[in-house]
Amino acid sequence: MSKRFVLRNVKRTDERAIDIAIEEGIVAEVAEAGTIATVHGDEGFDGKGMYVSGGWIDLHAHAFPELTPYGDELDEIGVRQGVTTVVDAGSCGADRIAELRASGRTAATRLLAFLNVSRIGLQRVDELSRLEWIDPERAAAAAAANPDFIVGLKARMSRSVVKDSGLEPLRLARRLADRLSLPLMVHIGSAPPDVRDILGLLESGDIVTHCLHGKPNNLFGENGEPLPELLAALERGVRLDVGHGTASFSFKTAELAKKAGIRPDTISTDIYRGNRTGGPVYGMSRVLSKFLLLGWELAEIVDAVTVRPAEWLGRPELGRIRVGEAAHLTLFAVTPGRYELTDSEGETRVADRIIEAKGVFANGQFAAC
Ligand SMILES: [Zn+2]
Repeated sequence: MSKRFVLRNVKRTDERAIDIAIEEGIVAEVAEAGTIATVHGDEGFDGKGMYVSGGWIDLHAHAFPELTPYGDELDEIGVRQGVTTVVDAGSCGADRIAELRASGRTAATRLLAFLNVSRIGLQRVDELSRLEWIDPERAAAAAAANPDFIVGLKARMSRSVVKDSGLEPLRLARRLADRLSLPLMVHIGSAPPDVRDILGLLESGDIVTHCLHGKPNNLFGENGEPLPELLAALERGVRLDVGHGTASFSFKTAELAKKAGIRPDTISTDIYRGNRTGGPVYGMSRVLSKFLLLGWELAEIVDAVTVRPAEWLGRPELGRIRVGEAAHLTLFAVTPGRYELTDSEGETRVADRIIEAKGVFANGQFAAC
């Protein structure tokens, strides 16, 4: 007799109520609520009033506990936040990527990673200020040794990271990405380099993270209109990722984007110890709640943290619920009330409902959040 877990009375984002049976970690049956019988010995959970989606995927987080300030414990930013897959966004370069991978092996959260093009990664926060830290041979060896773990290359292209190197780190990253056939995730922030020059070097499948930051040198012009270089990049197939972080999400910029019809493809946190415990990130639910406040539909928000990152990863099974596939599920509620939500610019707005993670099915078992 195989071990069975039945999740009862949960809703999809279209409000359809369902039951889900999981056997040995595989989705065995999805049916109308109230129709999957539980038999003696089944484990179960009644999720009445809650929603269920594919497992949440955080495409930009910092999961290497050894690093300060940009580090954290994987399960703290993963399953405890409703996130079943964490993609570490360049905490490590070639020097320590194997250690990052090993550190995730005992966690319930699945871990994938962008390889920092700087071999030292976030060992220092100016990791691209010296070009000799970009070692194409070591990066190529790391990528070759971890093809099922490394999902792309990361380059942080802002003033405090590159110092006097200007655009050169990105030119080197572009060359390396082409050579290894890996996409690039590029962090944007304060100039130099000019964001328009950064956008010019990006190609289909590459990702701009921190796309809604509110500092100068963001993706919108003086009158709030999207930069022509942004529109051209989107036309080429460049993706936009939120990467909220300590300093990179602005309600005002998010409103400009919405007004211009520009929608980030993926919603991610850029979470690490400091902004998890002290804000303004706190966790994935809080970040998603800000998009509810901005007027996004619940289904669009959920897609941006499930099916869209999963598709980009080329692993659609990580973000969907389908019979016969391993179960990665997130259970959450939309809770009415009065909540103050603060962006990275210190601007606070009042929401009348928030998203709260309630549980996950990951790594073959159910855990409440
Ligand atoms: Zn980051």
